[in-house]
Amino acid sequence: MGDLPHLVLVGFMGAGKTTAGRELARLLERRLVDADQELERRLGRSIPAIFAEEGEEWFRAREAEVVADLLADPEPRVLALGGGAVLTPQTRKLLRASPARVAFLDVPVEECWRRVRGSSRPLARDEAGFRALHAGRLPLYREVADLTSVGADGVLLELGDVVAERGATRALDALVPGDGPVALIADERVLELHPPELGDRLVATHTVPSGEAAKTLEVVGRLWDELTLDRSGTIVALGGGTATDVAGFVAATYLRGLRAWVPVPTTIVGQVDAAIGGKTGIDLAKGKNLVGAFNLPARVVADPDVLATLPPAQRLEGMAEVVKTGLLRGDRLWDREDEPMVRGCAAYKVAICLTDPREQGRRAVLNLGHTFAHGLEAGGGYHGPTHGQAVALGLRAALRLSIRHRGLAPSVLEEVERVLPVEPAHVDPDVAWRAMALDKKAKAGRLRLVLLDAPGKPVHGIELPPDEVRAELDRLVAR
Ligand code: NAD
Repeated sequence: MGDLPHLVLVGFMGAGKTTAGRELARLLERRLVDADQELERRLGRSIPAIFAEEGEEWFRAREAEVVADLLADPEPRVLALGGGAVLTPQTRKLLRASPARVAFLDVPVEECWRRVRGSSRPLARDEAGFRALHAGRLPLYREVADLTSVGADGVLLELGDVVAERGATRALDALVPGDGPVALIADERVLELHPPELGDRLVATHTVPSGEAAKTLEVVGRLWDELTLDRSGTIVALGGGTATDVAGFVAATYLRGLRAWVPVPTTIVGQVDAAIGGKTGIDLAKGKNLVGAFNLPARVVADPDVLATLPPAQRLEGMAEVVKTGLLRGDRLWDREDEPMVRGCAAYKVAICLTDPREQGRRAVLNLGHTFAHGLEAGGGYHGPTHGQAVALGLRAALRLSIRHRGLAPSVLEEVERVLPVEPAHVDPDVAWRAMALDKKAKAGRLRLVLLDAPGKPVHGIELPPDEVRAELDRLVAR
């Protein structure tokens, strides 16, 4: 997930290019330019008027000029093209030659017709003609497309090489890119519950202990010793965030880095967060996640069906991250069924990582509630509140500060308290406070917080009076 050039949306009338374009532009923090609107602006007339007065041929020639200008703009944008823009051979050639990523929104023609019938669009007057036009254009969309999907989430998941679909683990053999040998590194418990189908490519299976015990140098050393892959091999990692963290680190370091690794996250935490974005690592005695590497997976395969076997406590752990993501995105993702919930959260994380792959800027927003959470975990000697419970508490503190300093509506906090019920933590507040100041995200000992102006509008790097932050921490601690 490196620098993303122009993202171009193509597709038929009614495929939702403008709606998806708006959401993609918002999440990727770039401008949406609609080529039709740009053409209308330049010519000072509406598209139906241009069609009526000048004819289609003249319209297509002007449209091609606009598309060429937009593609030449050095500032990366989301560009939504008119449904017929791909009819012009010059435009197709430009799209294929350009570094832009072209996404084809492949919505069934019935749905497109339902959305546009009765509109003023000159080419949407009768259904038979509409269908014929669609059939004729389909191969042209496919010719220029780098990826094919539906909606903003689908496009983001494709851009991030994330497959998030029910039943995906049963089709794993086909979903692991390439055709070289595969070594499976699996959480021993998950391997029993959800043995993956990897076909003839599977050369060895290595298990790791369930839970945080997997993220040790000892386990890494054993895996380095056991692996027999050459550099062209692929590691497939099956399990929660602990298994994917350790396997990704092994993939980054064994033989100075294997060609590819594919996490197959099996917890909510893994599917919405840990497996996406390329952060891998292990723990040291002096703290969690202190050694690691950025190692982008070749693909992430998340199967929401496997979440059915998650113990309820582990599901709650994941819901804390889902609520955090929903608040950041401005969408009640926690109210969705598993598959759309996972897709919505994963798509948001992809957008953040695409715009800040090395965690130097806006990726900091993912720490909403986490500064307090890390303090609480330390304050309990890592045997007190779980990470999810600590995040549920930390979100409360971040939201209270947001209400006071950023004008956030109090109803947001009430909703979070309802969705993530949690008791105050039995921890040492002084230890928690010291750990907060040492948090990786503190700068020169000064705490920098992520707050919310509103759902969907996070701000990061906010410094507040230490006494006030400490008072909020104390409210999270049981007396
Ligand atoms: P986990 O990997 O320890 O899994 C939790 C438990 O659930 C384990 O006992 C596991 O065996 C079991 N389990 C997993 N899938 C199951 C399934 N489908 N059915 C039944 N049981 C199942 O915990 P986690 O919450 O997934 O991950 C936490 C780890 O993720 C932490 O180490 C954290 O540091 C890391 N993390 C990493 C990132 C990142 O960006 N790399 C982000 C967030 C968290």
